[in-house]
Amino acid sequence: MDIFDNSDYLKEEIDFLKEDGKTIGFVPTMGALHDGHLSLVRKSKAECDYTVASIFVNPTQFDNAEDLSKYPRFMESDIRQLTKENADLLFAPSESEIYPDAIARQAIPPVKLGALEKVMEGARRPGHFRGVVQVVHRLFDIVKPDVAYFGEKDYQQLAVIRTMVQQLELPIRIIGCPTRREQDGLAMSSRNMRLNKKERKDAAVLYRALQFVRNHWQKYSVGQLTDEAIRMIEANGTVKVEYLQLADGATLQQIESMDDAKHIRCFVAARINNVRLIDNELVLFKG
Ligand code: AMP
Repeated sequence: MDIFDNSDYLKEEIDFLKEDGKTIGFVPTMGALHDGHLSLVRKSKAECDYTVASIFVNPTQFDNAEDLSKYPRFMESDIRQLTKENADLLFAPSESEIYPDAIARQAIPPVKLGALEKVMEGARRPGHFRGVVQVVHRLFDIVKPDVAYFGEKDYQQLAVIRTMVQQLELPIRIIGCPTRREQDGLAMSSRNMRLNKKERKDAAVLYRALQFVRNHWQKYSVGQLTDEAIRMIEANGTVKVEYLQLADGATLQQIESMDDAKHIRCFVAARINNVRLIDNELVLFKG
């Protein structure tokens, strides 16, 4: 696997591959890789001629300084894992490579996220999605992928990226990939390694609560479902729910009744001490 930290050299390499007719698949990440990330790499490998992964912990998408400073960094083992998956190239730029000056750090592409930015993660993490749009746009500009792969685990982020690509008419296909889970159902996340043994065990209640909603939506009202799911999560006192709601899978706006949308998902954000976890699950899809 080739490793680049310089965007000009990377652009040259990509131009060369494109002249050769190769399709470029791209998997942007913040590192501390796990099987969720690697599943995106595998999908790209299966569908594209050449797979680029990136590792960049983007400071502009963190609304919490502690979350940024404690974000796990494991470059050596990340490189080993990507090599094992036969990723073709890793782009691991420094902060100054992505944001060479104050102007670059403040430049945000003109994307109107509207209501998408005002709910769930957008409402709780001010500026987060603007930071995501900024860095993904910058990475897209450097890597110029034909296809880019994102996890459904960060479903709202996936919707934000789709909106950006649509509004800016970028010639990039965005593929959403299913959430990879641990054996007890906890969604894989780089943040899970910050949990101690008990917290890690208790965190699995998030998935159990999502399954409860998925399996009981026909029997209960939306209010009853969400109240019970929150009660389950908070029952043993370790996990605190920030939000748990049912939302339209297309617009991500909260729904009041199961008749409100064709595609409904349940979204949850919760804290275990200082670790904030998110997850979501399909509840209903009327084809
Ligand atoms: P991150 O490094 O957390 O920014 O994630 C990089 C990409 O991997 C994003 O598209 C995430 O949605 C995706 N991802 C993270 N966790 C998972 C998971 N458990 N299953 C599938 N994709 C994931």
